[in-house]
Amino acid sequence: MAMVTSSSVVEWAKGFLSKAESELTPNEVKEQKKFASLVQTPEYKTFLTTMLDESSQIRDNSKLSARVREIIKKYGIPDFFSRSDRFLIKLYMAGGYLFPSIAMPIFKYKLRKETDKIIISEERPRLTQHLAGRWQSNIGQNVNLLGEVVLGDGEARHRYEHYLEALEMPDINYISIKLSGIYAQIKSLAYEQNKRELIEMVATIYRKAMQNPYTDKNGKQTCKFVNLDMEEYKDMELTYDVFIETLSHPEFKDYTAGIVVQAYLPDAESNFSRLLEFAKKRVAEGGAPIKMRLVKGCNLQMESIVSSMKGWECPVLRSKIEVDANYMHILDLALIPENTKVLNIGIASHNFFTIAYAHLLCEQNNVTEGITFEMLEGMANHLPRVMRKLEKNIILYTPVVKAQNFLNAVSYLVRRLDENTGKENFLTHSFNLKLDSAEWNFLRKQFEDAYKLKDKTTTEPFRIQDRSVIAQIADVA
Ligand SMILES: Cc1cc2nc3c(=O)[nH]c(=O)nc-3n(C[C@H](O)[C@H](O)[C@H](O)COP(=O)(O)OP(=O)(O)OC[C@H]3O[C@@H](n4cnc5c(N)ncnc54)[C@H](O)[C@@H]3O)c2cc1C
Repeated sequence: MAMVTSSSVVEWAKGFLSKAESELTPNEVKEQKKFASLVQTPEYKTFLTTMLDESSQIRDNSKLSARVREIIKKYGIPDFFSRSDRFLIKLYMAGGYLFPSIAMPIFKYKLRKETDKIIISEERPRLTQHLAGRWQSNIGQNVNLLGEVVLGDGEARHRYEHYLEALEMPDINYISIKLSGIYAQIKSLAYEQNKRELIEMVATIYRKAMQNPYTDKNGKQTCKFVNLDMEEYKDMELTYDVFIETLSHPEFKDYTAGIVVQAYLPDAESNFSRLLEFAKKRVAEGGAPIKMRLVKGCNLQMESIVSSMKGWECPVLRSKIEVDANYMHILDLALIPENTKVLNIGIASHNFFTIAYAHLLCEQNNVTEGITFEMLEGMANHLPRVMRKLEKNIILYTPVVKAQNFLNAVSYLVRRLDENTGKENFLTHSFNLKLDSAEWNFLRKQFEDAYKLKDKTTTEPFRIQDRSVIAQIADVA
């Protein structure tokens, strides 16, 4: 059987690039140009992040208007704005700022409009239309409810109830949940209590998913799917424990749920092995498979900042190439027929080379069942269409928010902005990407270097503090 070679991946990625280019609509080309201008000018990213941040914190229109004016004075008017928007900003700077009660609602409306392809409106019938459109194109959706910021038990309770309500909606068949969204008091010193209470909450969510099956267009009913998203490193262990212990309960023997492995952690292999072992045992005992979504990881900035503030080791692999290598390493372990039968795999990436590697590996190993390719809504909407033409199962991660909570969705937008502008990230170089251009060659080389490293990845966690050793030293003192 032919091996997936580095050159076969590059060849496939070339073909994918040409299909992606011809799939772009004129509006998408316009969007791409806007993003290209954004990524070429780092100050624009600072401008946008500051704007988003301040507009989500300042409720008073007069104060917000004063800040918006200062930010525009400092950074100028970025040229990624359309001509009409630049004209509106000039009007605002010329005197519009004197009328904050008129100017600020327009500003917020524009902000919402600009981002409505990345964060979908949760209001009906808009959400109904969006979901129906995607279903018609045979594109699955994983609804992610962005809501109010969880500062205490009250907000966490709201979010939890919101998840339960979403599972009652007949057109939502898949949701992603975050433990930090439903539980405000995650504290490592209260680990057992946190785990116990979270297991109860997650069990209620799974029950709801089983009691409200989704009926597809052929009338077939299946339980709704719930995925536990992976967040910061500090909550990783808890998230796996809650997932495995909840699903181990006999009432969930036949229920399939999902969780995430982040390849940017050296811990990825042991996390994958733990899930695989659990899945094998469960299926051997007559239970249903489970699902693992493989991502690279979206909290690099947060992990780096927290680690440097606390003087801890950053838990993330030290380079993008190591992360890509680790991703391929986990794919090598996962995409084997006997494994995918028990542990279904979601391949979440926009990177053509990562997608190419996964696709060719599936072909080589003759693995099709239980494999989905997953992307983020609004990041590169032409790619899911290309994937559908290649007859891949595709799921879009669809963040939704109600109008009154939009400004709380800013942290999601900033993460996406980071992903679109990170120096080494695929998306940063993907706007207007041409074969054999400097950008293409950079991405190709990045893949080739990662490919060479994929069987030599580090699998020992970076944070290895042994608290019992500290306790001994304290005893002696
Ligand atoms: C459907 C879907 C669901 C997702 N769910 C989750 C989730 O639950 N949890 C989560 O954490 N993320 C999640 N993500 C986000 C995901 O982690 C990022 O989208 C992903 O990292 C981007 O990978 P890529 O292959 O598309 O892009 P690439 O550009 O190939 O990879 C970018 C990634 O490489 C890594 N990286 C970049 N520079 C460096 C560096 N200098 N050092 C080390 N690493 C670096 C980072 O992880 C960065 O995000 C999800 C993404 C998708 C598409």
